[in-house]
Amino acid sequence: MKLDSMYQEIILDHYRNPHGKGLRDGDAEVHHVNPTCGDEITLRVRLDGSTVADISYESQGCSISQASASVLNDLVVGKTVGEGQLIQEAFLELMQSKGQGEGDEEVLEDAVAFAGVSKYPARVKCALLSWMAWKDATAQALAQHPAVND
Ligand code: ZN
Repeated sequence: MKLDSMYQEIILDHYRNPHGKGLRDGDAEVHHVNPTCGDEITLRVRLDGSTVADISYESQGCSISQASASVLNDLVVGKTVGEGQLIQEAFLELMQSKGQGEGDEEVLEDAVAFAGVSKYPARVKCALLSWMAWKDATAQALAQHPAVND
């Protein structure tokens, strides 16, 4: 896989020093696997009203999947669920761009570093693993607290 060297450095930084890793209290927990690559993540979401108070996770797998979970934690913790969903959709769109998208750095920050990954269909699943786990866990957390779903 060939990535822009600056972007590669951002991904490796997150891989070596993952942000927010470890399992803490949450309202919902999911376990997702990417059998193609062997990546696994257990992810918990804690909501405070409509704010994403914490995303905690335990994960193993390739550098792309690990770095992506770290970036997810950076971007979405502290945002509202609605803002987090917009970021998730923007990241999904970038990952489905087949190497054509660049990503809006205002919205995606370090996640734009994954733009080159979208050229490699097998690796897109690695990049999306934690984001899909977050989406799933958030839906479960909201189902427990329907009042905050606004
Ligand atoms: Zn992987």
